[in-house]
Amino acid sequence: MTPDAGLLPLLKKHFGYGEFRPLQQDIMEAALAGRDTLAILPTGAGKSLCYQLPALAREGVTLVISPLIALMKDQVDQLLAAGVAATFLNSTLSPDENRRRLDEIRDGTCKLVYLAPERLMSGDFLSTVRTWNVTALAVDEAHCISEWGHDFRPEYRRMKELRRALPDVPVIALTATATPQVREDILAQLALRDPAVFLASFNRPNLNYVVEPKEDAVTRIVSFIKSRGTDSGIVYAQSRKRSEDLAASLRTSGIPAVCYHAGLETTERARNQEAFLRDEVRVVCATVAFGMGINKPDVRFVIHADLPKNLEGYYQETGRAGRDGLPADCLLLFSRGDVTKHLRFLDEISDEAVRDNARHQLETMADFAESDACRRIGLLGYFGESWITDGCGACDNCLTPRETWDATVEAQKILSCVLRVKQAGGPPVGIRHLADILSGSRAERILSRNHDKLSTYGIGKEHSAAKWTEIARQLARKGSLTVEGGNYPVVSVSADGMALLRERKPVTLSRLMVVGKAAVLRA
Ligand code: ADP
Ligand code: ZN
Repeated sequence: MTPDAGLLPLLKKHFGYGEFRPLQQDIMEAALAGRDTLAILPTGAGKSLCYQLPALAREGVTLVISPLIALMKDQVDQLLAAGVAATFLNSTLSPDENRRRLDEIRDGTCKLVYLAPERLMSGDFLSTVRTWNVTALAVDEAHCISEWGHDFRPEYRRMKELRRALPDVPVIALTATATPQVREDILAQLALRDPAVFLASFNRPNLNYVVEPKEDAVTRIVSFIKSRGTDSGIVYAQSRKRSEDLAASLRTSGIPAVCYHAGLETTERARNQEAFLRDEVRVVCATVAFGMGINKPDVRFVIHADLPKNLEGYYQETGRAGRDGLPADCLLLFSRGDVTKHLRFLDEISDEAVRDNARHQLETMADFAESDACRRIGLLGYFGESWITDGCGACDNCLTPRETWDATVEAQKILSCVLRVKQAGGPPVGIRHLADILSGSRAERILSRNHDKLSTYGIGKEHSAAKWTEIARQLARKGSLTVEGGNYPVVSVSADGMALLRERKPVTLSRLMVVGKAAVLRA
């Protein structure tokens, strides 16, 4: 049988579709030819079909590892409705039901078996699996295997053992979001052999990206939503409490809204989700728990009331807007204070490599928000795509280039402060420490290092530490300052910066994202 024999008729017969979406057929053919395969396609591109259809075209059973128990049941129900023999095994089943399903699988009646990753290691499950006629392994949401990704699930590491137990069975790994680093990690963790890698563009041309300084967030969110007529959208918040508060504020302002987070009772969560999907309410205020597997094509806006932890999360969440291909807006409200809040949580992470990586991802997110460059270039660049160079014409920075201001004096102050710290001896300092010196902070770390005795101490009282932080970060992006080091990045003056200082060159920076004195940092 040629690999692709009969794929199209199977597509029609079971799923009722007349043609493949981009890359689907290539992916299926590679998988059916017995190759290890990695498919990176944006959400909604049709990844599930890439392993479901080949499962029907080959002998034996395809094992599917999938992280979410709720999604597993949905998928299996849909397959059963399409006349495909599928089942799932996870912790929600009674022992009797579990046994019944195991029998069914052993008898060879099932084409697809969905497994929760933690199931893999229970008892001698692997030896049971070896007695089935497994002919393919599919790893859905494969980024979960990488601790460098935004959604690491330790149980995914058990895939390695499954792979070892079934050394000759080809693997297909699928994910909607993976940076080049995570991609490499997936290949390595799953030990994919000579893999066929398929990568679709991450660009979502119909999404408009806007970042605004966060100031009086509720008022801004209400006015934004009111300006959108009856459109529906999602407001992402950092905590459960905040998602509840936001939903309540929206309702008070006459906007029908519900909230959604993992702390709600299952029934309430389901009810709120349904209300949103059925357009009974316009807005869902949610934590990141909302969205995976939810397919509402006409979400017209996604607002981030708080800063996401990393760009992958931001991409994923904004990606829930405009699935129907029509224009949709993504509004991020940014404050440096959110960065500080996140950093406090990250300090609790005990594994140093994981912590450093999380900090780095957070800084990248903040850089994206503060940047005056095209948002799309920034976002796609993060995923390793560099084909747009001129700006997209559909983001705030392209449409209304940020105003600029003369920052010559500020640049002089920052650069000379870095030099003073260096002359005083002792270890170099990070940007926020520097901002504290300039703004004249009495923080312990300033006093204990006698940095309040420096001639540059308090010479920048006209700005908050948050503003100095952002100014310094802009100078770093321009190359006048160098910021280096993993755990605790420290600043030094670059050769460019030295020239700037010596020749008193004028410095122009973009309008700051930080507003007022509200977001004073205390780290
Ligand atoms: P992903 O996992 O990539 O986010 P899904 O597998 O959930 O996407 O598919 C998204 C939607 O697209 C589903 O409703 C699916 O049935 C549909 N779909 C998949 N492939 C095709 C196709 N070839 N033609 C039309 N619709 C498709
Ligand atoms: Zn742009």
